[in-house]
Amino acid sequence: MALYVQKYGGTSVGTVERIEAVAQKVKSFRDAGHQVVVVVSAMSGETNRLIGLAKSISDSPDPREMDVLVSTGEQVTIALLSMALQKIGVDARSFTGWQAGIHTDNVHMKARIEDINSDGMRAELDQGKVVIVAGFQGIDDDNNITTLGRGGSDTTGVALAAALKADECQIYTDVDGVYTTDPRVVPLARRMEKVTFEEMLEMASLGSKVLQIRSVEFAGKYKVPLRVLSSFQDGPGTLITTEENSSMENPVIAGIAFNRDEAKVTVKGVPDIPGVASRILVPVSDANIEVDMIIQNVSADGTTDFTFTVHRNDYSKALSILQRLASELGAASVSGTDDICKVSMVGVGMRSHAGVASKMFKTLADENINILAITTSEIKISVVIAEKYLELAVRALHKAFELDAEVAEEK
Ligand code: ASP
Ligand code: MG
Repeated sequence: MALYVQKYGGTSVGTVERIEAVAQKVKSFRDAGHQVVVVVSAMSGETNRLIGLAKSISDSPDPREMDVLVSTGEQVTIALLSMALQKIGVDARSFTGWQAGIHTDNVHMKARIEDINSDGMRAELDQGKVVIVAGFQGIDDDNNITTLGRGGSDTTGVALAAALKADECQIYTDVDGVYTTDPRVVPLARRMEKVTFEEMLEMASLGSKVLQIRSVEFAGKYKVPLRVLSSFQDGPGTLITTEENSSMENPVIAGIAFNRDEAKVTVKGVPDIPGVASRILVPVSDANIEVDMIIQNVSADGTTDFTFTVHRNDYSKALSILQRLASELGAASVSGTDDICKVSMVGVGMRSHAGVASKMFKTLADENINILAITTSEIKISVVIAEKYLELAVRALHKAFELDAEVAEEK
């Protein structure tokens, strides 16, 4: 007998028929002798509808009242699912966030869970009931309803699994797992059997479409095995777990993530003297612009070039800050471009395999793709390239590192 926490997202409970299908699925786990705690989202579109209602009254609604409002979506689905289970002979009981003992801090609309008093849920489980909990919500010390930020039901699921020491937290969604890269770019992308928490966090740009990234951090911290799977078709999905529990033979590369929202800014011919980097970057960070990669060239004749990348939304702001600074810095020129992108290869196997970077660079060179910047960490190598080469680069790398579905099946 195992204890599973199963989270069903908005599309999985989007209609009464789908809620009844979820009830059947939960029943099959009960029939097999397992204990089940179910976390549900609001019916798809409902949270947006509620936010729309609030916005039609005020541009900046009171955050406390927003939480009272948006938490209602999940209260509907817990009750309906409980009814659907009872109708097919499964004993079930619904819990709102506070009834489930989910205590949070008092930051409305992006609260963090502080602790969970699971006694009430345990008592019901011990009586053989299925426990159904409203995702996304909790209560603060002053009994105010709070919510955890968009997509927060995933985090509720993981937090409950940690508190109840569940065997697995299963996230049921409308895709059948996490893929080696975006299948819209590489049709041969493959569902990963297993991926480590660390890899998943590095691949946030791929994973965040499937899972709230905060829930992955949470699961990694408490070592809760997390499985992403489809609620519409059977299959093993993707297991997100610790490195030890991930497969014996880790593939060198788990997946390839990419990000189009990049821009870069270059200051040319600045004097190569102490303090220049901070004189360039402090005004940028003071403007709340987050800098990603930073490259300083080797200096020639006492001057150097300085390049950094920012989110595309911050591009014109960053450029104008530097244009203002240019004369003060004694820079020769300031330039930039926002038609670049970042491609990252991620894998814990890199730690024990040399040559990943050189193979990556060679693959890109063979396609005549120029690398504009490079950064590395222990389990990730990222390059900046022209955006027009994004698809070509990701496909070539996916193939070169034998991630393509066909190649994998031939082995
Ligand atoms: N219903 C909330 C949202 O749409 C929480 C969730 O679905 O996870 O963001
Ligand atoms: Mg969701």
